[in-house]
Amino acid sequence: MKKFSRMASALIFTLQAFLSTPMAVLASDMSSTKEATEQVQKATDTTETTESSTESTEESSTKESIESSSSSSESTTESTSSGTKPSESSTPSDQETPKKEEPKKETEKPAAPKEESTAEQSNQISQEVPTPETIVDQEATIDLSRTVPSSTVTQDGSIHFEKNESVDSFIHKIGESARKIGKEKELYASVMIAQAILESASGQSQLAQEPNYNLFGIKGTHNGKSVSMATQENLGNGTLYATQAGFRVYENYEDCFNDYATLLKEGITGNSNYYAGVWKSNAKTYQEATEYLTGRYATDTQYAQKLNGLIETYDLTDYDKELQGPIISRSGYKIPLQNYTISSVFGNRNGEFHRGLDMAAAQGERIYAVKSGRVIKAEFHTSWGNYVVIQHEDGTTALYAHQQQSIVKVGGTVSQSQIIGYVGSTGNSTGSHLHFELCKDSSLSQGMLVDPQSVLFGD
Ligand SMILES: [Zn+2]
Repeated sequence: MKKFSRMASALIFTLQAFLSTPMAVLASDMSSTKEATEQVQKATDTTETTESSTESTEESSTKESIESSSSSSESTTESTSSGTKPSESSTPSDQETPKKEEPKKETEKPAAPKEESTAEQSNQISQEVPTPETIVDQEATIDLSRTVPSSTVTQDGSIHFEKNESVDSFIHKIGESARKIGKEKELYASVMIAQAILESASGQSQLAQEPNYNLFGIKGTHNGKSVSMATQENLGNGTLYATQAGFRVYENYEDCFNDYATLLKEGITGNSNYYAGVWKSNAKTYQEATEYLTGRYATDTQYAQKLNGLIETYDLTDYDKELQGPIISRSGYKIPLQNYTISSVFGNRNGEFHRGLDMAAAQGERIYAVKSGRVIKAEFHTSWGNYVVIQHEDGTTALYAHQQQSIVKVGGTVSQSQIIGYVGSTGNSTGSHLHFELCKDSSLSQGMLVDPQSVLFGD
């Protein structure tokens, strides 16, 4: 442990409490990193905030690793961990919401066509757990702000997070992908989402965002794509140096979860069961899975408590279940919400024409596409707020207004019942509700509108 860590303020200790320290994840297809790395032009945003720089210093001091730039995927890795573990504050924290990062500079660097291999482990576990080759770069996100939700640590050691809007919004973006992959691969979606929150600073890291979608800091190439990011490596003696490393680039979050799930299922070279303890077939509860990851995926001794705290605060176990979509009407349309009350009907009201159907529902209630189609609008409008228009195959369109958050993009296709967003009260709206319009074409002109009730609930 370096001297400077002693200078850590209470704030740093608090921040540190949430830092995860992924130890090692090994791709079974490490050899893919041998392939010519496609150079993805990438704007590497290096942002510095007070928090991130102190944080980075603190975190770096808690672990040491030697980077080996061997050309072989069988490269040996050395670990000279100081064996220190993150200290944990036992006092409640009043941390503010994570700050939004402002990109300060942009540099374009080609992807480094070389292999990176680092490994970290704590002395405590070095006897029991083999050191796998690491493709998760924990330094990768250090120079990005790794702000995390505020939390408190109780006497029994469990960690409670304060619900935070930006984290909620991030979960909305990645949750359904995790649900799908979790089901397919028999893994806890709740655990993967909680890990993604920690590893990507709730999606704020540059690596986690479009167009990279790398939530777990996984190195190498994916389908020939990689992005070079500035990162800090540790020489093994505590000396940090700046370098560039290649990280996998994914098509979208689902692609990322799928790749990560593959790692968990296929393990590491020479030990395909390395992560077997997190499989649903072996872990009866998500708590067993998070416990198994501690000391194995991350050196952080508080890793399980952090994941558990996030899973509880954000009800992530909901994503471990299969989604019960809303009912389908006789006309073949899905009802866009599951829990709602009709608060205003289509047509004239108080001398004004109401263009759609208002369905009152709780903030954050899922909005389902009534039919499959293509997204032709997804933007903010002063009266509709966050709204989405989807054109169906028969040419009709549906408009969904006042969303808290929409999670589809113009040009994208959606299937019937797919979640397109969440109920809110944005724009000119009183109270949380979905304003839903149906139009015979894409004009959205008043004369072409139809009464949604007659279609959704009619004979
Ligand atoms: Zn309305």
